[in-house]
Amino acid sequence: MAEFICKVCDLPFKSYNKNAKYCSQACKGQAYIKYPIKNCEICEKEYKPRVATSKYCSLKCSVIGKNKAAIGNSRYCE
Ligand SMILES: [Zn+2]
Ligand SMILES: [Zn+2]
Repeated sequence: MAEFICKVCDLPFKSYNKNAKYCSQACKGQAYIKYPIKNCEICEKEYKPRVATSKYCSLKCSVIGKNKAAIGNSRYCE
């Protein structure tokens, strides 16, 4: 059994798992919502990203974002 420091609450804990990062399921859950709140690039609404690279609040906005990127530099009238 090895001792680790929880990446979320910074408390030491012991685990049989050599790759353990979190002391509990609760902290593991926290780890997924740790990213700072961002504003969606499409609707500018605040949202909690689930991945650091996310740009959009929802699937709907990400589709719009990808369509805009696909149109690229061609002239586009809103
Ligand atoms: Zn913890
Ligand atoms: Zn959005």
